[in-house]
Amino acid sequence: VVAPVITIDGPSGAGKGTLCKAMAEALQWHLLDSGAIYRVLALAALHHQVDIESEEALVPIAAHLDVRFVSTDGELAVILEGENVTSEIRTQEVSNAASKVAAFPRVREALLRRQRAFRDRPGLIADGRDMGTVVFPDAPVKIFLDASPEERARRRMLQLQQSGIDVNFERLLSEIKERDDRDRNRSVAPLVPAADALVLDSTSMPIEEVIEKTIAYARSKL
Ligand code: C5P
Repeated sequence: VVAPVITIDGPSGAGKGTLCKAMAEALQWHLLDSGAIYRVLALAALHHQVDIESEEALVPIAAHLDVRFVSTDGELAVILEGENVTSEIRTQEVSNAASKVAAFPRVREALLRRQRAFRDRPGLIADGRDMGTVVFPDAPVKIFLDASPEERARRRMLQLQQSGIDVNFERLLSEIKERDDRDRNRSVAPLVPAADALVLDSTSMPIEEVIEKTIAYARSKL
């Protein structure tokens, strides 16, 4: 029997990361951060000076991407070609590059098998944009977590301020909207809820409540 999967899709800043971590801990399941794979690919392309606008050039990099996820005291470190790039893949530059490389169909295709390989017993929590629609269409539990762009920009700003980075709200908001547009309007695997997904809006819902609702829903479906 194949291991069960809980897919958690939605735009950035909706609270997916926190929700997925909480779910993986509560159920003691594996975790796939698919966004990190696109980020690592973007970073690898930047490192090797590969044109991130060229699908042709990106496909071989995607196919041979040497990425590993290593769990060290509760935190998941991301390793690219032996180098710890956990914080480097979170910069604004890499975020924007990731959403550009992710728009290429053949790049996505090259990363499919790698993502499906994370499916293992006792189960997998899959975090991304197309987990329920493309990568794991047969998942028994699908969540689509949304929030308004303003609220997501506000959360991101607080996060950055806490790490001592001063940012302009309007600029952050326009970058979030631009990235959303790219993710929602691309021709392959656009950001949309799967037909059988439970849609949750976290705009005015505390994350604790989102976690509670998701766990209750998952228990009712598994
Ligand atoms: O989730 P995260 O913000 O880390 O993802 C970075 C980018 O990777 C997203 O903006 C999106 O363009 C892309 N992505 C994707 N499909 C996924 C996960 C992420 O296209 N399953």
